[in-house]
Amino acid sequence: MAAAFVRRAARLVTADADRLTRLDAAVGDGDHGLNLSRGFAAAVEALPEAALPGKVLIAAGRAIVSKTGGASGPLYGTALRRAGKALGDAEEIDAAMLGAALRAALEGVRELGQAAEGDKTMVDALVPAVVAYEAALGKGESLAECARAAAEAAEVGAEATVSMRARKGRASYLGERSVGHLDPGAASTVLVLRALSDVAA
Ligand code: ADP
Ligand code: MG
Ligand code: MG
Repeated sequence: MAAAFVRRAARLVTADADRLTRLDAAVGDGDHGLNLSRGFAAAVEALPEAALPGKVLIAAGRAIVSKTGGASGPLYGTALRRAGKALGDAEEIDAAMLGAALRAALEGVRELGQAAEGDKTMVDALVPAVVAYEAALGKGESLAECARAAAEAAEVGAEATVSMRARKGRASYLGERSVGHLDPGAASTVLVLRALSDVAA
């Protein structure tokens, strides 16, 4: 599932690269689509053969960190590496393990980027996703259902960034003028969580 997820994420991010770049052109420097499609292409190339899920995510995360420009490269790379570490040497991933991996990814992003909720970043998509995942898990739902809940919550969270004023990253240079635009990193987070939901279905 891990390798399929990385491939699916690469496909979705590449398919939407122009939209991500347009979003970033409005509040940043217009490279988010390029950064992420490059980064995930590198991750696909770096996928080890027949490796454990945790190792796959760590290799993908490393490739993203080393090949992706911008703020988002280290953040996505860290997210994948932390998720991979959380999975450890498990051969099969169950719903609880995936939930712990998502939580670890979020903590990694928060630690590195120091963004809080409401700062108009990928954290605003990731936090509701992890919360929704854990709520579904608590109700005993399947991995696929938990992952779908996460993807849907990420989308709602990303939409909410439109009315936020950016306090982290390049968009923060715009101050009040960042209001009214969807955060590009929150938009790409939706795609990555949709990829997870797709391969979990
Ligand atoms: P850059 O801004 O360096 O060109 P990208 O355009 O690839 O990098 O990524 C921009 C996205 O990165 C933003 O939309 C935001 O979601 C995310 N981001 C930027 N800084 C932070 C941060 N400190 N914490 C979390 N996410 C951040
Ligand atoms: Mg940018
Ligand atoms: Mg840039």
